[in-house]
Amino acid sequence: MTLNALAAVRRELDKCVKCAACQAGCPTYETTRRETLSARGKLQLAQALLDGRLTFSSRVENDFAQCLSCMSCAEVCPSDVDTLKIFTAARAGGFIARGGAVKRFIFRHVLPYPARLGALAKVVGLAAVLYQKAPAWLTRFLPFVSRGARRLTPDLLSGNLRKMAGEVNDPLRPRANGAVRTVAYFSGCMTDLACEKLSQRSARARAGEKGGGCPAVVRGACPGENPA
Ligand code: SF4
Ligand code: SF4
Repeated sequence: MTLNALAAVRRELDKCVKCAACQAGCPTYETTRRETLSARGKLQLAQALLDGRLTFSSRVENDFAQCLSCMSCAEVCPSDVDTLKIFTAARAGGFIARGGAVKRFIFRHVLPYPARLGALAKVVGLAAVLYQKAPAWLTRFLPFVSRGARRLTPDLLSGNLRKMAGEVNDPLRPRANGAVRTVAYFSGCMTDLACEKLSQRSARARAGEKGGGCPAVVRGACPGENPA
């Protein structure tokens, strides 16, 4: 069950010829010199998981989690291995294998559905506001409070990037003044829900650099997401 996602990318795994070309330019490998943080090493981990020689441990999961998804490895790979697809499958497998029932429920039944994710974000956003406003005497009973210092929490109540940006999910539609948009800003679930103002500024700054005016904002799809 937990290896279904990896099994689906076995063909990609088989394409790797273990040449190590992907090590050059891999930021996590160049920083740590750990083979399992290079693409080749992670592909070996994925293969071992599939063969049953390895199980998802916190270390294995952490090796996949540290990948920056920068795609440098895929760009130089002579065999055209879709490394990101494999890493994504491994992360999904690890999450399902090691996550608790609540995490598994969220992963399967909430994350793939933007409307459900948005509703959950509002509930969590409300809890975050109450957490920040809780009186001092109560804070010692709250999690995430150390010596009276509360953690910063994202603002999940203010809005939704895709709704606020106004030109969402339709990058090919010409603007009213006929201008052609040359910049598309891909938002993710958290930038949609928690960082919409920052994302809007970032998208407009990028569009300005390219002379593209208002950018199209496009929802990026998370692994396994059903964008419908
Ligand atoms: S460059 Fe491609 S074929 Fe070579 S080890 Fe890396 S993933 Fe495998
Ligand atoms: S995608 Fe991951 S493995 Fe590939 S080069 Fe970037 S950090 Fe390294």
